[in-house]
Amino acid sequence: MANASPTLAQALGQAHTLGLARIDAQLLLLHTLGRPEAGRAWLLAHDTDAVPPPAMDAFLALCRRRAAGEPVAYLTGRKAFYGLALQVDARVLDPRPDTETLVDWALQVLQPIAAPRVADLGTGSGAIALALQHQRPDAQVLAVDASAQALQVARANAERLGLPVRFAEGDWLAGLSGSAGFDAIVSNPPYIAADDPHLAALVHEPLNALASGADGLDDIRTISVQAPAHLVPGGWLLLEHGWDQAEAVQALLRQAGFTEVQSRTDLAGHARCTGGRRPPAP
Ligand code: GLN
Repeated sequence: MANASPTLAQALGQAHTLGLARIDAQLLLLHTLGRPEAGRAWLLAHDTDAVPPPAMDAFLALCRRRAAGEPVAYLTGRKAFYGLALQVDARVLDPRPDTETLVDWALQVLQPIAAPRVADLGTGSGAIALALQHQRPDAQVLAVDASAQALQVARANAERLGLPVRFAEGDWLAGLSGSAGFDAIVSNPPYIAADDPHLAALVHEPLNALASGADGLDDIRTISVQAPAHLVPGGWLLLEHGWDQAEAVQALLRQAGFTEVQSRTDLAGHARCTGGRRPPAP
C-alpha cells in the first residue's frame, strides 16, 4: 500500500537517513508518540506499529532540527541526569553525562559528614544540586546562578521533584550573604576558550554557560580564589573543566592554597574534574 503509515522501524530509518544518531532518533520518537517514559525497549517491541501521519510529520520536523544542531534535550524538554528527570530548555546548559563524575566525587567527599552544607555554583538546570540533594536528603544544598532565567528552570525542577534545594542569584560566591562554612563547593562553570572552534557546534546553548575568556579559565580562576573563605577547614572545592585543562586547574588550586589537589576522569577517560581541600585547621 503506497499510502500506508510508516512503521516505527521505518520512522527510525528515515531519521537515520537525515543523519541522526540512533539514540537521538529513539528519544525524539518516544517524545513524539507521547511516551517519554516508555524507553527504548518499548520501541523495539513495537517496531511494526504504525506511526500516524501527523506524528510522522512532527517527528521528522524534530529530526531536522536535531540534524541542524539543537540538543535533543531542548527538543523534548527533558533530560535524565543522575537518575532524575529534569526539565530543560535553551535558558540553561544541556546537562552532560560527564558531569555525573562530579556528582560521584562530591558524594564521596560528603559521605563521612552528617547534614553537610554544599554549594553548587552556576547551577543552570539545577542538575548537580538536585542530584546531590536527592542522594543526600540530610544535606543543606544551596544552588547559585548569575542568570535569573536559569534559576527559574532550576527552581521549577526542584519544585517538581520535591527537593528542598535553596537558590540564590549571584556571581559565583561574590555578595552571597550567609554563605560561609560549606563542607563542599562544586561547580561545572563555563570553561571553553572564547575562540574555540568547538563553540560553533554549541550555538543553541547559552554562551555565558560555555565560554570563559581567552583560555577558558577565567571563571575557574575567580572561583578558586573566592572559595577558600566560604569553605570549612578541610572542605573541598570540586570543579569540572575541559578535557585538556586538568594541569592548569591543578596549578590554580595549589596557588589558591588548596591541598590534596587531584583530578578524576570522566566516562571517556579524560581528566574532567579537579579538586582540592582547604587546609584543615592546625
Ligand atoms: N562539556 C561542555 C562541552 O565541552 C561544556 C560545558 C561547560 O562549559 N561547562 O561541550
